[in-house]
Amino acid sequence: MQTTQSSNEANLQGELIAPCGMNCALCLSYQFQQNDINQLGFHRKYCPGCLPRGKNCLHMGDTCELLRDGRVRFCYECSDFPCKRLKALDKRYRTKYHLSMIENLTYIRDNGLEAFLNNEGQKWTCEKCGSSLICCHNGLCLTCDLEVFLHNKKFRWGE
Ligand code: SF4
Ligand code: SF4
Ligand SMILES: [Zn+2]
Repeated sequence: MQTTQSSNEANLQGELIAPCGMNCALCLSYQFQQNDINQLGFHRKYCPGCLPRGKNCLHMGDTCELLRDGRVRFCYECSDFPCKRLKALDKRYRTKYHLSMIENLTYIRDNGLEAFLNNEGQKWTCEKCGSSLICCHNGLCLTCDLEVFLHNKKFRWGE
């Protein structure tokens, strides 16, 4: 089954890199909205990304004043970086979702956002279609692997 395919260029925008280092383009809620997947019988909350939605991601909720008030673009600008909450989030994502917010942030700090976006394209582009990005929450390409996901809505990285 095919869905509307978004190009990497469209997906890999700087504004989709959240202050906590998450790449919202890889998030299931973002990809669901992009491809309007709920029309296939899912009932997931859509999200346009942390910055585009004008609110903090649920990840950090309202637990950090600096993020809540938009006082830092990225967490590495904060004197507490990486704080306890960010470390906990990072651990969860490293363990379950194959990405590290802290690594992302360190890379952006040291090499710039553009270099980071290039790397992300290489790392997450689906090898089958060569255009859509793999979702970090399940390891699937919602263009190529939609049938797998329809069959098992809890599918996660082959587990
Ligand atoms: S739910 Fe969070 S990680 Fe996902 S797109 Fe929205 S802000 Fe980004
Ligand atoms: S590193 Fe700083 S800005 Fe980021 S969540 Fe922690 S306290 Fe907030
Ligand atoms: Zn694909």
